[in-house]
Amino acid sequence: TGKRAFIAGVADDNGYGWAIAKSLAAAGAEILVGTWVPALNIFESSLRRGKFDESRKLPDGSLMQITKVYPLDAVYDNPEDVPEDVKTNKRYLGSSNWTVEEVAQSVKQDFGSIDILVHSLANGPEVTKPLLDTSRSGYLAAISASSYSFISLLKHFAPIINPGGASISLTYIASERIIPGYGGGMSSAKAALESDTRVLAFEAGRKHKVRVNTISAGPLRSRAAKAIGFIDMMIDYSSANAPLQKELSAEEVGNAAAFLASPLASAITGTVFYVDNGLNAMGVGV
Ligand code: NAD
Repeated sequence: TGKRAFIAGVADDNGYGWAIAKSLAAAGAEILVGTWVPALNIFESSLRRGKFDESRKLPDGSLMQITKVYPLDAVYDNPEDVPEDVKTNKRYLGSSNWTVEEVAQSVKQDFGSIDILVHSLANGPEVTKPLLDTSRSGYLAAISASSYSFISLLKHFAPIINPGGASISLTYIASERIIPGYGGGMSSAKAALESDTRVLAFEAGRKHKVRVNTISAGPLRSRAAKAIGFIDMMIDYSSANAPLQKELSAEEVGNAAAFLASPLASAITGTVFYVDNGLNAMGVGV
């Protein structure tokens, strides 16, 4: 309660970012979101037209309020990084100040500080290709959008995160076990994100008293997951083989994020926190 959260990676009501926003709002936090520039118009107009009202409902019957939506492209740290073709792309021309550094500055100007930073975004242009067939540029793009984006967000937001604050990202078990189909260097990107979670927990803990954790989430039928192409199979596999034989809801991940962001988790940092019905603990499918 009384906390302010910035959630990067919300562009509809199907993903983990939305569910985390809801759980944090239900716990009394003020919600700011960062939405990928190309998805901004449709997200904002859907919000305005009431398309998400049903899924904005909180347990007490009220509707989640999003105080402000910031355009964001987490692949660029500052305007000097933005190539000409992106600058002049018509989906980007309508928005401004959407590089990571500028968004952090805008949030600082608007609100002064935040308490919770959530990174719920990933992108791998070659995700459907096996690692052996992944190009150098595809691999580096996956790492840039899915791993370095968290370093950049934390670097630019940490100075405005109140001491005792928390940051959370989302990862996937493909970082440490073979998940055929999660290609394009996305498995590598998640491995980097998890390793960075430990190193950044040390650095941000010492320098800013900010905690850094990542949630290793089970499969969810989000927009991003549908683009990978094997999400229904992964959901069926989990239901068949996990200790808890139920479909994972986004809300369960949202609630775990609310816990990790809360004072209840004040000694937890540098961890990979599994929210996957226990599937990670299985050695064989049964
Ligand atoms: P999602 O589609 O709701 O979220 C991904 C978001 O990333 C989208 O809103 C997209 O617009 C945004 N995005 C992409 N590139 C961006 C950029 N350059 N700058 C800013 N935003 C950008 O899908 P999701 O599955 O909820 O993904 C959220 C996180 O959860 C990701 O890190 C994903 O890897 C992770 N995750 C998902 C699953 C799953 O099964 N869905 C499982 C484990 C982990």
